[in-house]
Amino acid sequence: LYAPLPLSPGAALALPPGPARHAQVLRLQPGDALTLFNGEGGEWSATVTRMGRSDVEVQLGAHVEVDRELPLAVTLAVGMPANERMDWLVEKATELGVAAVQPLVCERSVLRLAGERADKKVAHWQGVAIAASEQSGRTRVPAVAPVRTLREWIAEVAATPASKVVLSLQDAIPLGGALKAGTPPALVFLSGPEGGLAPAEEQAARDAGFSPVSLGPRVLRAETAPLAALVQVGAVATA
Ligand code: SAM
Repeated sequence: LYAPLPLSPGAALALPPGPARHAQVLRLQPGDALTLFNGEGGEWSATVTRMGRSDVEVQLGAHVEVDRELPLAVTLAVGMPANERMDWLVEKATELGVAAVQPLVCERSVLRLAGERADKKVAHWQGVAIAASEQSGRTRVPAVAPVRTLREWIAEVAATPASKVVLSLQDAIPLGGALKAGTPPALVFLSGPEGGLAPAEEQAARDAGFSPVSLGPRVLRAETAPLAALVQVGAVATA
């Protein structure tokens, strides 16, 4: 379970509301063993000492040095697909080791979230990322960033040292070939929404230092393309 708290060997602690609810759902009982992680690396063994109606207390055991993270930090910046497809994307990207997800509103986006609605959705997707991290044994939870417009976001990311790639259907070299040179420590993929990136957006990305890369001749859905890129990078980085 994900407990974003300072943890130390032997400490007794009350679980925060999220993992406490999860422990209730799992019907844990005093004496049951569980594993906690706080996102700062590794895992902690723990034993349930009290199951209240809503409060759960545990006794921490040892810190276990495990690392199931990708050796590079991959950010997926995606023109958010509509309906439940973005939930699916966040869940699968988390299982596959993404470090961060940046939801974007693009010129041709169907889903145009802003303000409170956007913040609520981001909180929901962050919950999806936590659940998928717990399920897949991650030791860090990917961050789902606040929704941005593509133009605003590009201006900011241009100044960062990460390697940048735009997934493109025109005039692009295959990602597999680009990865032959190795993987950088931090990599940002930009991928378009259902209607694709507008030509001016694609040009703005190229002007901001994004290299155009192809995933092959078939047109992948907005939620498939970033995952296909993440799989390829993960395969090369962990080979
Ligand atoms: N008709 C749209 C177009 O022509 O741009 C299709 C957009 S596709 C559903 C959504 C996004 O996935 C694209 O903007 C692109 O970033 C990415 N994508 C899909 N298939 C791809 C491929 N074969 N190679 C590279 N990127 C791809």
